[in-house]
Amino acid sequence: MIKDKIKALDLSATLKINEISKSIELSGKEVIKFGFGQSPFQVPEDIVEELKKNAHQKSYLPIQGLEKLREAISGYESRKKNIIFSTDQVMVGPGSKELMFLLHICFNGKILLPTPSWVSYKPQAIIAENKYQWIKTKAENLWFPTADDIEKAVLNNEKTENLLILNSPNNPSGQVCQNLEDLSKVILKYNITVLSDEIYSELTFQNKYNSLAKFCPDNVIISNGLSKWCGAGGWRLGYFVFPEALNHLKNSIKILASETFSAVSAPIQYAAISAFSKDHSEYVLKSKKILYSIGNFVHKNLKSNNIIMNEPMGGFYLMPEFLNKKFNSSSEMCSDILNKTGVAILPGSDFGFDEKKMITRLSYTDFDGKKFMSSIDENTDIDDELINQFAPKVVEGVKKLKSWSEN
Ligand code: GLU
Repeated sequence: MIKDKIKALDLSATLKINEISKSIELSGKEVIKFGFGQSPFQVPEDIVEELKKNAHQKSYLPIQGLEKLREAISGYESRKKNIIFSTDQVMVGPGSKELMFLLHICFNGKILLPTPSWVSYKPQAIIAENKYQWIKTKAENLWFPTADDIEKAVLNNEKTENLLILNSPNNPSGQVCQNLEDLSKVILKYNITVLSDEIYSELTFQNKYNSLAKFCPDNVIISNGLSKWCGAGGWRLGYFVFPEALNHLKNSIKILASETFSAVSAPIQYAAISAFSKDHSEYVLKSKKILYSIGNFVHKNLKSNNIIMNEPMGGFYLMPEFLNKKFNSSSEMCSDILNKTGVAILPGSDFGFDEKKMITRLSYTDFDGKKFMSSIDENTDIDDELINQFAPKVVEGVKKLKSWSEN
């Protein structure tokens, strides 16, 4: 009764660990939630007010999204990238995840996925019956592919179209891609289509965010939304910005949108206008400051002879690798960690790593972002004392992981 390809799937690892963690909590046990990746901060007050004001909006909105919202998004993207985008290039969806899914459904070719990649890209490719190809990366290249890696991958696929999914700052590695210009050369040479997943772009800790769209705009679909920078994951609002050269893809995705979700919830779209048109730089600055301090705290205190990882550069993840030979797979190891310490983290195998590699994803978001944010200003130096005060579960989780690794 159920298709084989669907039977072979499991719940998405991120949402599954969220539900497991919550059910452990409900049973009265303590769990440190380093599994799910969700912003710890409140949605900015002015945006919440807009949502309240617009609760009465009840009509179906245009399939591609409310004109005023698309205007706000195209303005936001144009300012951010110094490229002029029109409202017609923007498509709004119920989370960028759903738009990605529709892209997989439309696209006919091979999906190129750097290892590591976010958990849902591969299952979406499988559901859409596209072939996918992992591209191995190295810690010293910040876990991003080199231009050479991409070239080798596409040389094997001469007769197919290629869609590369590049996510920076990256989930799960927490790294920011530094070789965009190099990558753009090979993208242009082989006319590769790129989905630039920029959902963590506002949370780039150092330097200004840079996008592949700056280097090869005609090949790049930009993907972003409210979930990560605005603390509004549960609102489910994302968008794509298509280059005019990829209008055919946009038109097909629009047809699929009309046959599936119809249009995104009206009140959410009205509220999102202010998210993309008003100034939230103070909120974003504070969010980054807190996340960077906590990421560095985890990195500094967890790193040891037994645990290696790169430094945090953006988003809210780190990728600790445990140097032990006790387990057959990283998922077996993560179950042992959860059982023995109550710390939930995800195995690297969920992100495309070989299951024998004892690498994991740690989301350092288990703290009350509202309290933390209201206690600091731009000049606050966030030291260990403040982290102990406002992120005690992060501190405890790090201690528990460290002592587990020593036994
Ligand atoms: N992106 C988040 C994560 O990787 C959760 C959202 C999701 O997977 O749908 O944990």
